[in-house]
Amino acid sequence: MYFCDMIHDFTRIILSWFEENRRPLPWRSTRDAYAIWLSEIILQQTRIQQGEAYWYRFMERFPTVEDLAAATEDEVLRLWQGLGYYSRARNLHMAARQIVQDDGFPQTLERIRALKGVGDYTAAAVGSIAFNLDVAAVDGNVYRVLARHFGIGTPINTTEGKHEFAVLASELLPKGKAGTYNQAMMDFGAIQCTPSSPRCVICPLAETCEALRSGRVEKLPVKLKKTQLKERRLAYIYIRCKGETAIRRRPAGDIWQGLWEPVEMEDVQCTMCDVQLLLLVKDMKHVLTHRILYADFYFWETKEKPSLPEGYIWVREEELDDYAKPRLIVRLLESLPCQQ
Ligand code: SF4
Repeated sequence: MYFCDMIHDFTRIILSWFEENRRPLPWRSTRDAYAIWLSEIILQQTRIQQGEAYWYRFMERFPTVEDLAAATEDEVLRLWQGLGYYSRARNLHMAARQIVQDDGFPQTLERIRALKGVGDYTAAAVGSIAFNLDVAAVDGNVYRVLARHFGIGTPINTTEGKHEFAVLASELLPKGKAGTYNQAMMDFGAIQCTPSSPRCVICPLAETCEALRSGRVEKLPVKLKKTQLKERRLAYIYIRCKGETAIRRRPAGDIWQGLWEPVEMEDVQCTMCDVQLLLLVKDMKHVLTHRILYADFYFWETKEKPSLPEGYIWVREEELDDYAKPRLIVRLLESLPCQQ
């Protein structure tokens, strides 16, 4: 009985906190499922501040899902440039085409979940916010708030933990208000019960917060450590010949699929081995989700075009901006000497 009351109070307090503290985000003033879905995909691995600028950029260029579906993959990747995790952009584009083919945005949880790039969290967020489906969206913010308030020490990245939190999250869900409640939890985790300096002193849940009572705020939630990130080394040659340079589109099955890059050292044939290369950058570090990259960047200016390894093409240097590139490559290109 006591636990039921606590659940009821928790939900009520979260909703009333949200009324006072909600963040005025542009996708919150619409019920357009496309606009909401776009915001959720952008925010999957991006902070709100940066994500908001990209959301505006996409909505301006592709106001409807049909516009996005009609674009080329290159256009979408170019607009996405700088956000990282490019598979999100490719999936977004494929899903847009899927939606147009199916004659409109899916309205059930299963069908939203079936879209490319949409996982359990995104499906629940879009379904509840756009269509008011009664489903709890559980992300890092929600794990943290629930683990702390209810004093749960089960690791959040285990099957058991995921199940336990999912059950609790749906018990807490106020039926008919899932969209508002899920957004309230997102904001509460982002503003109030933050990872490193939660504002417990002014928290409306302080009285019932188990972590605060037992001095475990900093210890919760518990997450099992992952294995160390793998390192990978890359080396590129930027060839300059009569105002042109050589690039290729990265193939499937590796990082940065579909994006463009200069000549990779390991593709170079011996004709290029003997030339004088100028080292511009050594060991530039770039961190991806599963890997740490270290890149060297060489420059070679030549009057005669060498034959290129398979897959590479010549492009005018001033047109390089038209090709979507990974962030690391953009950073390397900043070190290039000016054209004479
Ligand atoms: S009291 Fe502190 S730890 Fe507990 S819910 Fe509030 S902000 Fe989070």
